[in-house]
Amino acid sequence: HPALEIADLRKTYANGVEALKGVSLSVADGDFFALLGPNGAGKSTLIGIVSSLVNASSGGVRVHGVDLLRSRSDAMRMIGLVPQEINFNLFEKPFDILVNYAGFYGVPRAEAVVRAREELARAQLSGKAEVMSRTLSGGMKRRLMIARALMTRPRLLILDEPTAGVDIEIRRDMWRQLREINAGGTTVILTTHYLEEAESLCRNLAIIDHGRIIEHGPMRALLAKL
Ligand code: ADP
Ligand code: ADP
Repeated sequence: HPALEIADLRKTYANGVEALKGVSLSVADGDFFALLGPNGAGKSTLIGIVSSLVNASSGGVRVHGVDLLRSRSDAMRMIGLVPQEINFNLFEKPFDILVNYAGFYGVPRAEAVVRAREELARAQLSGKAEVMSRTLSGGMKRRLMIARALMTRPRLLILDEPTAGVDIEIRRDMWRQLREINAGGTTVILTTHYLEEAESLCRNLAIIDHGRIIEHGPMRALLAKL
């Protein structure tokens, strides 16, 4: 099965805005995939539906073959989500943030501790495990958000504009972290409005505009057209 299959997905918000007008796309297992589009295109709405934060008006979503609408918790168990906004408790320590998050999702404490050490290392935060997370730099906070999403060992990691508003050095660090995660076999899907980011990271992409997919395929094929 593909990691993600979306079929004729539509979303009309209560105010009448048609954010998705029949979106279909497929992301292969192990892919590094970008959903590229300008502000207002429908990226967050699509990510919101896949991560069960927004209800679709119609259409289908499958995660590794599991129907998201019919078997929501089974599908969600395979997804790790990195929201756009930093939303961990700034008065907790990174180590505790990771362990508590895993605990919430039913990971036994001893296992959560092992994973937290691994993820802190991969996020280059081992030296910051016990500081108040409020004191982390912006880039460190972003890397901690990614580390947290990986604590449940998702097969599919989804990031909504992970580098929006961060400077180029932080962006490069995050790119390195994401490449390493993908190299380990995790499918990565991110939304972005930077072509440069999609180009640097992704094998395949879809371009969304005004709620419709206007391109879908290998990055290389798209670049050849530009
Ligand atoms: P749903 O159809 O998923 O129930 P709603 O249309 O009820 O969503 O809107 C959810 C929330 O988002 C509401 O509080 C609404 O005021 C707010 N909202 C409305 N318009 C926008 C917008 N253009 N962008 C972001 N949020 C919005
Ligand atoms: P993107 O992430 O690509 O910037 P969004 O999915 O946030 O796009 O928005 C797509 C469209 O839906 C925009 O016109 C936006 O104003 C509208 N929208 C987003 N969220 C809501 C909401 N909760 N209620 C009403 N309209 C919304």
